[in-house]
Amino acid sequence: MKIFTSKHELSGYLETLKEKGRTIGFVPTMGALHQGHLSLIEIAARNTDHVVCSIFVNPTQFNDPKDLEKYPRPIDADIAKLEQVDCDILFLPTVQEMYSGDEKWSIDLGYLERILEGRFRPGHYQGVTQIVKKLFDVVQPNKAFFGQKDYQQVKVIMKLVELYSLPVEIVMCPILREEDGLAMSSRNIHLSPSERNEALALSESLRRTRENYSMKQIAELQIEAVNFLHSSEGVELEYFEICNAETLLPAESKEEPGLVALVAAKVGHTRLIDNIIIK
Ligand code: AMP
Repeated sequence: MKIFTSKHELSGYLETLKEKGRTIGFVPTMGALHQGHLSLIEIAARNTDHVVCSIFVNPTQFNDPKDLEKYPRPIDADIAKLEQVDCDILFLPTVQEMYSGDEKWSIDLGYLERILEGRFRPGHYQGVTQIVKKLFDVVQPNKAFFGQKDYQQVKVIMKLVELYSLPVEIVMCPILREEDGLAMSSRNIHLSPSERNEALALSESLRRTRENYSMKQIAELQIEAVNFLHSSEGVELEYFEICNAETLLPAESKEEPGLVALVAAKVGHTRLIDNIIIK
């Protein structure tokens, strides 16, 4: 695996591959890699000739400086994991390499950044789009792979691609879970053993919602999930919503073509998100 820390050197190298007609798949991450990240790389490797993974803990998408500070950065372990899968290139820039001084970024994401995550993490998607646009400019991938785990993020990236008419295909990849249902996340390492157990309420609320889908109305499913989460010890619920899978607006009826249930909650000091496509 080749490792680049410079934008210029990476884009120069990728240029030589593109001249030979090779396609580039891109998997942006913030590191602390787990099997979920690696599954994105494997999907990318099956769909493109060369896979670029980036590891960059992007400061502009954190609303809480403490969260940024405590974000795990086990870079040697990450490199070892990437060596085990079909990752050809790792891009590992510094903050200085990606940001020069007091840049401004503003993109009109409309209601998408005011709902769900946007309500609880103001400015988060401005930061996400700012860094993804920069990374896309350097890598210029044919396809970029994002996890369904961050469902709203996928919709935001699709909006970015549409607004800038970027020539990249966005591929959404399935959520990888631990055996007991907990969605894999870099943040799970912050959970104590008892919190790890309490965190199962999130995936359980989603599982129940999908299981009961055929028997109940949307409003009923929603109330039951919220009640279940409120009564779950150690879980501080931020939202549980059943939404139109395309627009992410609240689902009005089961007639909507696609439905997704999304949940966010704090367990101890750790903020977790999860979702499930129910139709
Ligand atoms: P992150 O490092 O958290 O920014 O995540 C990098 C990419 O991995 C994003 O596209 C995430 O949606 C994706 N991802 C994170 N957790 C999972 C998971 N459990 N299964 C699949 N993809 C994931």
